[in-house]
Amino acid sequence: MSAGVVLAVDVGGTKLAAALVDSGGALLRTVRAPTPVTDNAEEIWAALETIVAEVDDDAVRAIGVGCGGPMRDELVSPLNISAWRDFPLADRLRQGARGRPVVLRNDAIAMAVGEQSHGAGRQARAFLGIVVSTGVGGGLVIDGHPVDGPTGNAGHIGHVVVDADGPVCACGGRGCLEAIARGPAVVAWAVEQGWSAPQPDGRSLVADARAGDPIALAALTRAGRALGIACASTAALLDLDVIAVGGGLSAAGDLLLAPATAAFERHAGMEFVRRCRLVVAALGTDAGLVGAGVLAQQALAGGTD
Ligand SMILES: [Zn+2]
Repeated sequence: MSAGVVLAVDVGGTKLAAALVDSGGALLRTVRAPTPVTDNAEEIWAALETIVAEVDDDAVRAIGVGCGGPMRDELVSPLNISAWRDFPLADRLRQGARGRPVVLRNDAIAMAVGEQSHGAGRQARAFLGIVVSTGVGGGLVIDGHPVDGPTGNAGHIGHVVVDADGPVCACGGRGCLEAIARGPAVVAWAVEQGWSAPQPDGRSLVADARAGDPIALAALTRAGRALGIACASTAALLDLDVIAVGGGLSAAGDLLLAPATAAFERHAGMEFVRRCRLVVAALGTDAGLVGAGVLAQQALAGGTD
C-alpha cells in the first residue's frame, strides 16, 4: 500500500459503497451493499459500518464521504433515505476513525471532484458535474476547489428554473430542471404520452429510445433540452470550461446529450459561454467514490477536516 491510501465512502438511496483509494485515484478494493429499506436509522448505520470495517486497514490515513443531500452542519438528511433525518454521519465515522480526519460532502460534489480530478473534467479550471438520476444534482469545482456554499449545497443545478410555467417541483418551486429531467419525471411524461413497457423505468425508456420508439425519444429530447437550457445559464454565470453529465439517465448518451447540446447552443450567445463543452461523465458509478477519496487526500494535504 502506498502512503497516500484513503478510505472512500459513498452513501446512496439504493447502494452503500466503501473503497480504498490510492493517491492516483485508483480504487484498490471496493465493497458494495444494498441500502437497507427500513425506518430504522441504526440499521442503515450498521450496514454502512460493516462495509467500512471490511475495507479499512492500517494504511488508511483519512476518510472521505459522499452522501445524498441536503445536509447541514454535517447532519445528513438524504431525500431518498427517509430514516436519516439530521443523522450525525460524520460524527459516527469519526468515532471509529482513531483520530484520522473524516471529510463529508454532498454526493454530487464528491462526483464532481472525482470527474474533475480523474475523469471527464481533467483539464477544466471551472467544472460542473451533473447527476441525472432519481433527482438532478450537481457539484462545482473551480480552480481545483469544490464549491460548498455556506450550507454545503452549492451547485444544486436541479433547482435552476428552466421553464417559468413548467411543472411543480418536489422542492416546492416550479419549472425546475429536476421537475422535468429527473428519471421518474421523464418516465412519467412518456407514460402520459402513451408509452408503455413491462417495467416502465428509465432503463427500459432508454432501451426503447435506442430502438427508435418515438415517444421514448421525445421524452429524452425534452429532458435534454431542459438540461441544455440550465447548462447555458450556468455556464454564463460561472465561466465554465466543461460540464459532465453522469447518473443513470446519462446511459442514454447522445439521445440525451445531443438535444442538450442543441439547446445549449441555441441559448448560449456569448463567446465565453459557447466555449464550454458538454460531455458525458467518464467514471460511471465510481465517480462518487473516487471523489470522496480525492476529498480525503485534500484533507490530508491541507490539514482541513
Ligand atoms: Zn426544484
